[in-house]
Amino acid sequence: MSDAAPTPPQPQPDAYTQPFWDACQRQSLEAARCEDCGHCFLPPGPCCPQCWSAELSVCPLSGRGRVYSFGIYRRSYHPGLPAPYVVALVELEEGPRLVSNVVGCMPEDVRIDMPLRVRFEASGEFVLPRFEPAEEEGARR
Ligand SMILES: [Zn+2]
Repeated sequence: MSDAAPTPPQPQPDAYTQPFWDACQRQSLEAARCEDCGHCFLPPGPCCPQCWSAELSVCPLSGRGRVYSFGIYRRSYHPGLPAPYVVALVELEEGPRLVSNVVGCMPEDVRIDMPLRVRFEASGEFVLPRFEPAEEEGARR
C-alpha cells in the first residue's frame, strides 16, 4: 500500500473527549458512566445527559455492537476518504451509539442489526475505532 494518500480529517479532542481518544490509542474503547444512575454514554461530557449528575467514571466497552443505521457514501468528499465507504451509527452492547465506519466487507453487504466488533485503525496522529462484521454471539435461534 502507498502512503501517498492525504491524511483524512482528524478528530478534534476536547477536555471531555481526550480520554476516549487516549483509550483508542491503547486499542481500547470506553465511554463515560454516571455514578448516580448508571447510564453509560457517548460522547463524554461534563455531566450525565440522563440525570445531570457530574459524578462520572469510566465505562469500559467490549467493542461489540450492531448496525443501528448506516449510509453508503459513493462520492468522495475528501482525498483521504476514497469512496465508496460506509458511515454507520453503531449501537454498542453497553448501550451508547457511536458514529463510525464499517470496514472489512463490501458496502452492499452491510445490513441493519448486523453484528460488529471494533477494529482499531491508524489515521494520521490518531487511532480510530472502526467496525467489522462479527459472528453472532451465541445462537439466537
Ligand atoms: Zn445519570
